[in-house]
Amino acid sequence: MSDFLTENISSYLKRIVDSYEFKPISYRYGTVEKLGDGVVRVSGLPDCCYGELLEFDSGAYGMVMDLEENSVGAVLLEKSNIVRVGETVKGTGRVVRTPVGECCLGRVIDPIGRPFDGKELNADIFYPVERPAPKLIDRRPVDTPLQTGFISIDSMIPIGRGQRELIIGDRQTGKTSICVDTIVNQKGQDIICIYCAIGQKASTVAGVIKTLTDNGAMDYSIVVASTAADSPAMQYLAPYSACAIGEYFSEHGKDVLVVYDDLSKHAIAYRTMSLLLHRPPGREAYPGDVFYLHSRLLERAACLSKEKGGGTLTALPIIETMGGNISAYIPTNVISITDGQIYLESELFHSGVRPAVNTGLSVSRVGRSAQRNAMKKVSGSLRIELAQYREMAVFARFGADIDDTTKAMLERGEHLTALFNQGRLDTYSLSKMVIMLYAFNRKAFKGVENSMLDEKSNELYSFIESKYPSVIKNIETTYDLDESTADTLKSAIKEWVSL
Ligand code: ATP
Ligand code: MG
Repeated sequence: MSDFLTENISSYLKRIVDSYEFKPISYRYGTVEKLGDGVVRVSGLPDCCYGELLEFDSGAYGMVMDLEENSVGAVLLEKSNIVRVGETVKGTGRVVRTPVGECCLGRVIDPIGRPFDGKELNADIFYPVERPAPKLIDRRPVDTPLQTGFISIDSMIPIGRGQRELIIGDRQTGKTSICVDTIVNQKGQDIICIYCAIGQKASTVAGVIKTLTDNGAMDYSIVVASTAADSPAMQYLAPYSACAIGEYFSEHGKDVLVVYDDLSKHAIAYRTMSLLLHRPPGREAYPGDVFYLHSRLLERAACLSKEKGGGTLTALPIIETMGGNISAYIPTNVISITDGQIYLESELFHSGVRPAVNTGLSVSRVGRSAQRNAMKKVSGSLRIELAQYREMAVFARFGADIDDTTKAMLERGEHLTALFNQGRLDTYSLSKMVIMLYAFNRKAFKGVENSMLDEKSNELYSFIESKYPSVIKNIETTYDLDESTADTLKSAIKEWVSL
C-alpha cells in the first residue's frame, strides 16, 4: 500500500504486471485399469512417486504403494464403492500430509486431519506423514523422566523423555489403561500427549476420549483415530500421522508423548494391504519389510539436542500378544526396536495385581539414567526383592516347610505387591511414591493387613502433608531426598507409627 501511495497508479500496475511470472501448474492424469478390495491399478502415471496422493474423479482419494513399469498400484483411503474402472485419476504431485500445530490440540482427527466433530480445523501448517528420523548428531542422551504415576513402573522400569518403551501383553490386561492414565498424569507438566488408535472398535476409542475429557486431559491432548471400520490404508497411516503431529511440537522445543494403540493391528493392516497388492508373503504371511514398517516409525522418537530446540518425543507403542507368547514375529521385532518393554501378564491381572506388570520380564534400557535422585535412593533393591519373592512364592505353593527368614521374605514380598497395586486413574505424585517406598523400606507398615495398605499409606501421606509439608515441597522441587529431608521424614514416620 505504501508503494501505491508514493508512485502513480499506472506505473504501479505496470510494475506488478512486469513482475508477474507465468508458472503453469501441471497435473498428470491416468486411468483406473483394475479395481478390487480397496486396491486400484492405474495406468498413465509414469512419473508418480511412492506415497503420492491420487485424486479420483469420483471424489475418492488413494495413495500410491506400488510402482511398476507400466502402471502403479494404489490403496484407497476410503472404504467407498464409488470408484469405477476407466475413471480418470489425477496425480496430485505431493505425498500424503497431515495438519499440525496448536489447532490440533484438544481435537479428535483422522489420519489425514479431518476432524470427527465436523467443526473446522483451520490449519495452516502441514507435514508429510512420512518423515526421516532425526539424525544421530541432532540427538542427546535421555535425561529427564516421564512420570507415569504408577509406583511399580516409575521405581523399577522408569521411562525417560525421548525413550521408546513397549507396552506388551495379552488382550484385556490393562495396556490401554496404563497409557491413558499416564496421559492423565501429565496434567500441568507441560507435555503434549497424542493418543493414536489403530484399528480399534469405535466404542473403545470413544471410551478413551471420554476418560481423557472427564479428567481434563483433552486440553493438552490430541487423538488420532482410525477405527476397525476404516480402510487398511487409513489404519496404516495413523501412527505416522500421529508421529508427524508430535514432531511439530518436539521441533518447537516441547515434550511430547505419543501412544500407539496398537502396533499389532497396524502390522495386520499393512499385511492386508501388501497381500492385496500381490507382494510376496513371508513369515506369518507378513511382507518382508514389516520390520522396517515399525523401525522407521519408532526411530522418529527422539530426545533432540539443545541446538534443535531440546524437545523430546516419547513413544509408548502397544503390542498385543496371543497366549502370552512374546516370541512371536511382530512382538520380537518391536521388542528389538524399542528401548525396553513393560510386560503385562494375564495371570497377574486376574490374581488382582494391577497394573499387572511382570517385573522379571520388564526392562527399561535407558530410563534408569533419567530417574529422579529421590526415587533412585529409595528404589535400589526393590527389583531383587520382588524377584526373590516371586521365586520363593512358587516353592511356598507346594506347602514346603519354610523357615522364619523365608517366611519374612514372603510376607515382605506380598506387602510390596500390595503396595504396588493401583486402581484406574489413581496415579501418584513423585513425593507420594518416595514417601511410600521410604516408609516401606523402614518397615513402617509392618503388621498392616495387605488390604489396609492403601488406606494406611494415604493416611501417612496426609499426616506428612499436614505436619511436615516441607518434606513434600523439597522432594517436588529438588527431585532429591537430601540428608536433612530424609532425617525429617524418618522422624515423621516414627511419629506416625507410634500414633
Ligand atoms: P484390549 O486388549 O482389549 O485392548 P487392554 O489390554 O488395553 O485390552 P484395558 O482396556 O486397558 O486392557 O483394560 C481392561 C479392563 O481392565 C478394563 O475394564 C479396565 O477398566 C480394567 N483395568 C485396567 N487397569 C486397571 C487397574 N489398574 N485397576 C482396575 N481395573 C483396571
Ligand atoms: Mg486396549
